[in-house]
Amino acid sequence: MKRIAVAHGDGIGPEIMDSVIEILQKAQVPLEFVPIEIGEKVYLSGVTSGIAPEAWAVLKDCRVLLKAPITTPQGGGYKSLNVTLRKTLGLFANVRPVRALHPHVPTRHPELDVVIVRENEEDLYAGIEHRQTQEVYQCLKLISRPGCERIVRYAFEYARVNGRKKVSCMTKDNIMKATDGLFHKVFDEVAKGYPDIMTDHWIIDIGTARMADTPGLFDVVVLPNLYGDILSDVVAQIAGSVGLAGSANIGADFAMFEAIHGSAPDIAGKGLANPSGLLQSAVMMLLQLGLTAEPTRIQNAWLKTLEDGCHTRDMARDPQKALSTQQFTQAVVERLGQEPRHFVPVHFGAAEPIRIPAYVRAKTQTKALVGVDVFVEWAEGDANALARMLQTADRADFSLNMITNRGVKVWPQGFDETFCTDHWRCRFLCPEGLHPKGDAVAQLLLRLESAGLECIKTENLYTFDAVPGYSLGQGQ
Ligand code: NAD
Repeated sequence: MKRIAVAHGDGIGPEIMDSVIEILQKAQVPLEFVPIEIGEKVYLSGVTSGIAPEAWAVLKDCRVLLKAPITTPQGGGYKSLNVTLRKTLGLFANVRPVRALHPHVPTRHPELDVVIVRENEEDLYAGIEHRQTQEVYQCLKLISRPGCERIVRYAFEYARVNGRKKVSCMTKDNIMKATDGLFHKVFDEVAKGYPDIMTDHWIIDIGTARMADTPGLFDVVVLPNLYGDILSDVVAQIAGSVGLAGSANIGADFAMFEAIHGSAPDIAGKGLANPSGLLQSAVMMLLQLGLTAEPTRIQNAWLKTLEDGCHTRDMARDPQKALSTQQFTQAVVERLGQEPRHFVPVHFGAAEPIRIPAYVRAKTQTKALVGVDVFVEWAEGDANALARMLQTADRADFSLNMITNRGVKVWPQGFDETFCTDHWRCRFLCPEGLHPKGDAVAQLLLRLESAGLECIKTENLYTFDAVPGYSLGQGQ
């Protein structure tokens, strides 16, 4: 019998996991459930990752995890276990299908039928954050070409295998031209290989607004990590409840299945939780494991339960008539073997595996150092005074070209009205055709230190095949 690691999680986690396991067992799924301990208890026992070494061993053995939501303790020192699991196990694709269950689950969007494919390992979720000055904090947004290619190809292959007609991409590449720009560029490149599938690109803000208003415009949507996280909650909520949607976190060798919602501490232990999101994740898991009869029975029983008006409070029209988690579970169990009459019954076939080609590293481009951005902490005066100090470090290899404060050019020709923090980006450029070695940057830093400036970080400016690999400052 296939062994599945199971984590009961925190908050409403244990209630909804008990519910789902009861339904799976009553549906006689050929699985052995191996419990692992993760989450709040583990954090509070002093394991800052939230997962103990024994649990890793079970995961390595089972390679599939059904996971209830966990609570990340507030405050510093604790890492998000969800992010750790996704990255450590290489779960690069987070697939979140959401469908309206009109008219049995109230929604203003009966036509909603969307699959969010969220990149799961990169972006601002790298968790690389620093306090750099008295006033300024930074979070690094990392986007890689292999990361983009993998998730975009997965989205197109998912669409093809599941008979979906269109793949939309959403980014903010009008502002983040390098990072989001790469995601969009890779989307356009990969799309060329799928002429049978329609495509479009939306700026994330208007894309989210249109999704909340007219979800029928969308089919499969592929997004970088943070936007995907936000958009999938929006989609689940407008479909009826954030408690309805499940997700599959897919990697090459591991898979993790979880509801999209959190541990809902506000309703924990009250018997109010909707187990549907986790149940939908479990159905995705059974299909991924190659089972068809059991997920078909469970899905039809669940649909019949909903159309018979058995709802937990979050999706009920009349909260007075809402069922508890346990009553809802029993309602599903009693309907195992039945088919819905209003909803179209499902008959799952063998899932076609989604294969994406191995990443092929592109030809190495010629990389040349053409300058350096030196970030300094300084709270002594205005940009002109800072420029005078910086220029004492000018030499034949590097000379001051520009100063910005929070990305706004303040020298040369800044505005007196611009509010400045104590965090300054000082751009030094090399003369045309001169490409100094890295030690020249170290020499520049030493000269700046001698001038009494505190350098908090540098970013080398490179061209790649003569194309600048950095954002140009405002006014350039
Ligand atoms: P949440 O999703 O837990 O709750 C948001 C709202 O939705 C609450 O009002 C809650 O009662 C309701 N809700 C959520 N799931 C429900 C369900 N199944 N049935 C009925 N109502 C439901 O989001 P939050 O309050 O922002 O986060 C709470 C905790 O969950 C935090 O510690 C957060 O870090 C964690 N979290 C964990 C995961 C995960 O483990 N995958 C995901 C998101 C948040």
